[in-house]
Amino acid sequence: MRIFFILFTLFFSFVALPQAAEAQWRTREIPDVRLNDIAMVTRLNTGEVVIIYNPNQCRMLGALVCGFFRAHEFGHVNLRHVITRRHPVFAEAEADCWAAQYAPRNEVIAAYNYFLRNGQRGDYAHGTGFQRANRIRQCAGFF
Ligand SMILES: [Zn+2]
Repeated sequence: MRIFFILFTLFFSFVALPQAAEAQWRTREIPDVRLNDIAMVTRLNTGEVVIIYNPNQCRMLGALVCGFFRAHEFGHVNLRHVITRRHPVFAEAEADCWAAQYAPRNEVIAAYNYFLRNGQRGDYAHGTGFQRANRIRQCAGFF
């Protein structure tokens, strides 16, 4: 697992960072209280890629943590995960890392603390709370 993070860090140091100036936040966000998740990225029948988020879940999590989850979805957009197939474990890790690099610091720190509190809870694709907190800290590079 440690080698994974080292390779990850190297990848983002040499490949992803030069694209920093091109990070885009223009994708339309649609609130939907029926969404059985915090946020997700999807492609509509029109072909438009949008981010759908659940405003009720955001209220419960707080604006800062929710901001990180939305940044995670922008990560999927920027990393073209909607277009190119990627193993879900890598895609989710990349999106977390992207959000850790590009989201506002207070959102990154709030998400770090949120995932630490989740501890061993998590799922196959995203990993445990501890794993996500560790990934965010490493990718953010400022704490
Ligand atoms: Zn994701």
